[in-house]
Amino acid sequence: MKRIAIIGGGISGLSTAYALEKKRRQGVQVEYTVYEARARLGGVLVTEQADGCLIEAGPDSFLTEKPWAADLCRELGMGEQLIGSNDKDRKTYMLARSRLIELPDGLMFMVPTKIMPIVLSPLFSMKTKLHMVREWFHPPHRANDDETVASLIGRHYGPEMVDLLADPLLSGVYGGEASQLSVRAVLPRFADMEAEHGSLTRAMLAVRRSAVPVGGGPSRPLFTSLKQGMQQMVEGLLAQLSTDSVNTGTMVQAISLEAGGWIVSAGLKSDQFDAVILALPAQAAADLLGLASRELALELRGVNYSSSVTVALGYDQKVRQSLPPGFGFLVPRGQGKRMLAATFVHNKFPHRTPHDRALIRCFLGGARDEQVVALSEDEILRIVRLELKEIIGIRAEPLFVRVFKWRGAMAQYGVGHLERLQRIESLRQKLPGLALAGNGYNGIGVPDCVHSGTRAAEEILKTLGMPDSQSISARS
Ligand SMILES: Cc1cc2nc3c(=O)[nH]c(=O)nc-3n(C[C@H](O)[C@H](O)[C@H](O)COP(=O)(O)OP(=O)(O)OC[C@H]3O[C@@H](n4cnc5c(N)ncnc54)[C@H](O)[C@@H]3O)c2cc1C
Repeated sequence: MKRIAIIGGGISGLSTAYALEKKRRQGVQVEYTVYEARARLGGVLVTEQADGCLIEAGPDSFLTEKPWAADLCRELGMGEQLIGSNDKDRKTYMLARSRLIELPDGLMFMVPTKIMPIVLSPLFSMKTKLHMVREWFHPPHRANDDETVASLIGRHYGPEMVDLLADPLLSGVYGGEASQLSVRAVLPRFADMEAEHGSLTRAMLAVRRSAVPVGGGPSRPLFTSLKQGMQQMVEGLLAQLSTDSVNTGTMVQAISLEAGGWIVSAGLKSDQFDAVILALPAQAAADLLGLASRELALELRGVNYSSSVTVALGYDQKVRQSLPPGFGFLVPRGQGKRMLAATFVHNKFPHRTPHDRALIRCFLGGARDEQVVALSEDEILRIVRLELKEIIGIRAEPLFVRVFKWRGAMAQYGVGHLERLQRIESLRQKLPGLALAGNGYNGIGVPDCVHSGTRAAEEILKTLGMPDSQSISARS
C-alpha cells in the first residue's frame, strides 16, 4: 500500500483526493490523507445565504470554455445542477470620465471585432479609434522574449486601450496589472495570433468564423456555475471521499524528505508517506519546501500573489429598479476609486436572488491595493458604500452586507513565468514523490485548479510505479 499526503483542502487538493479515491476504488493499492489548515474545506470556494440571496465569497462561476470543472461536476452526478450565466442580458460598463459607459458590442475580451459599435462608442478617443483601424494592417510578429500584456496591447491598439480595457479586465480576473502580467502565461493565444496573423482583430475574426458550426447552433454561456453555488462542488467532492482521509483544522508546519520517504509534521504529530502533493498557493508551498530544497522554495516564492476583498450588499426592489441592466461594471485605475469592479448578481445569475432584491458584489484589492485587506470591515464598507453612491447613485441602507478577505489568494503570472515553471519542474523532479497543484502554475481559474489536481495525482501514481486501473482489471 502506498501512502500519499495531500496538503491543502481547496478545490485543487480535493480534486487530487478525488482522482486518487477513484483509483483506490478501482483496486490500486493507494491511500491518501488530506491536510487542511482551516476548519472547513474548499479554500476560497465559500457560498453563504442571506435574505433569500445566494452569496459567493470567492469565485462565483468558471469559464465554460475550460472543460475540467464542468466535467468533474458531471462525473460527480451534478450535471443537472450546472447553470449558465444569463448572457442575453450580458452588458458590462466601464467607469470613464466619472460615468458608466457600456462596453461596445464586438469586443472579444480586449480585442475589437466590430467596427460600427466601436466608432460610435463614447468610451474611446478618436486617436484610439484610428489606432484600432490601423491595427488591421499590423504585420505578423513573433516576439523573441516574453513581454507584458500592456506592451502587446499598447503596440496594437495604443495606451488608452491598456488603461481602459486591458488593465481593468486583468484586475477582474487576476487582481493584477497589465504592466506586470506576462502575455505568454496569461494570454498565450494573443502571442500566437500576433505571430500568425499580425492583426489581433483579424485573428479573432478568423477564430470566430472557424468556431461557429455550419448553420449556427446554440452558443454556450460564457460562465458556468452551480445552482446552489460553488460550494456545491466542494460538497460533491467530499461526498466521494472517505471522512477518515480528510483532516481539517490541521496545519502542516513542515515536510522533509528522509530515507524512508516524506515526513509530514502537523501539530504534535508526524507521519510518513511515500509521496506528498502540495495543493497550495505557491508561496505556502515554498514555506514547506525550504528543508527539502532551498532552490525550489526560492523559485516558488518568485510567483507573486495579490490579495482580494469581496463585499456583497443586498438591497430592496427600489434599488434594483434604479440599477442599469447588465452584469456590472469595471473601474479603470485612473478613476481614483478603490473598487476594481462590481457584479450585479441579480442579472448575471437571476435565480440567486428573489425578484424583489438586488445583490451587488464589489471587488477591491489586487496588486495595486494590498493595503485594503488590513482595513477593518467597517472601513471597507464605508469605502464601498461611498463609491457605490458616486458611481451608481445608491444612497439606501443595504439590507445585509458581507465582507470577505482573501489574503495572498490570486497568483500573478509575471513576465518570465513560463521559464520559472520550467525551473520549478526540473527542481521538482529531483525530489522523488513530490507533486505540485494549485493556482500558481498553469492557470488560476477553478477549472485550471481541478485540472492541476487531477494531473498531480496521475503524476504521483506514475512515479510510484502504481499500475493503472486497466492493468488491474486485466489481472483480476
Ligand atoms: C475573490 C476570488 C474570486 C475568484 N473568482 C473566480 C471566478 O469567478 N472563477 C474562477 O474560475 N476562479 C476564480 N478565482 C480563482 C480560484 O477560485 C482559485 O484560484 C482557486 O479556487 C484556488 O484553489 P486552490 O485549491 O488551489 O487554493 P485555495 O483555495 O487557496 O486552497 C488552498 C488551501 O490550502 C490550505 N493551506 C494553506 N497552507 C496550509 C498548510 N500549511 N497546511 C494545511 N493546509 C494549508 C488553505 O487553508 C486553503 O484552504 C477567484 C479567487 C478569489 C480569491
